[in-house]
Amino acid sequence: MAFQTTIRIDVSITGIGLHSGEPATVRLVPSAPGSGISFVRMDRKDRVLIPAKAENVVSTRLATTLGFGDSTISTVEHLLAALAGHGIDNLLVEVSGPELPILDGSAREFSDAILKVGIQTQLSSRQYIRIKKKIELRLGEKWAVIEPSDHFELHSSIEFDHPSIGYQENTFIGGVNQFTEIAAARTFCLLKDVEAMRRMGLAKGGSLKNAVVVDDAHILNPEGLRCSDEFARHKALDALGDFKLSGLNILGSFRLHRSGHDLNTQLIARIFSDPSNYEIVDGTKLAAQKKATKRPMLSVARGATASSY
Ligand SMILES: [Zn+2]
Repeated sequence: MAFQTTIRIDVSITGIGLHSGEPATVRLVPSAPGSGISFVRMDRKDRVLIPAKAENVVSTRLATTLGFGDSTISTVEHLLAALAGHGIDNLLVEVSGPELPILDGSAREFSDAILKVGIQTQLSSRQYIRIKKKIELRLGEKWAVIEPSDHFELHSSIEFDHPSIGYQENTFIGGVNQFTEIAAARTFCLLKDVEAMRRMGLAKGGSLKNAVVVDDAHILNPEGLRCSDEFARHKALDALGDFKLSGLNILGSFRLHRSGHDLNTQLIARIFSDPSNYEIVDGTKLAAQKKATKRPMLSVARGATASSY
């Protein structure tokens, strides 16, 4: 896509916060070209804008938390994944308190809200980050590799010693249809971790309504899984959300194994740590290049005209 986008009109989504258990609302507001994605807490007097950028990540424990000064906003990753999936460049996200609603633990309601109000193309070209060389990152058993590509591709795999999980993988190459497949994949957690979080006063809003919960041998949700590879799909969803913290769209082929918010956000920081890792390219120029490379093939096709494009 050559041009930037926002949404057509405001839309609000309400639920409860995962950790507080209190009601939480986000209002998505269209924003000007070049403004990017920013969050603002409406319960604070300072109304400080927190850009959705990797340098503003203050915690990746349990969820991705953004912050600026003493203003923090948690659980931003599933909304960011929906914005990435639908290619939204510019948006103001007004949040009623310190965390976004967890909803059903997936990005489905955010995705549906964007589709309901529609996407507005803006008259400014989109900027891309094109990866120029191989980048690798390892954190213990987790690892990531990015290789140059003219497209965005994300290959995710998980390996979890549990009879319901085991080894699973997912390949995401973009498009609304494929995004819809992963948008509904819910977050998952171990029962013993939920119990430990509760003891620390966290996850007060957590329940089988907003996570797949597994004990040592079983999935505890009575409805079971939404798809057999729901765990791998959710890993892809989280990565899409965290990669949105690059501030731009990335052209590169990603391979992630056992990824988490820490690996994803550190990977984005790694890209920017060395200017020779990437170049910024203009979406309209990319579109013109693609058209130019296609033209010789089309010109030999009998009867092909400009209107065939
Ligand atoms: Zn998640």
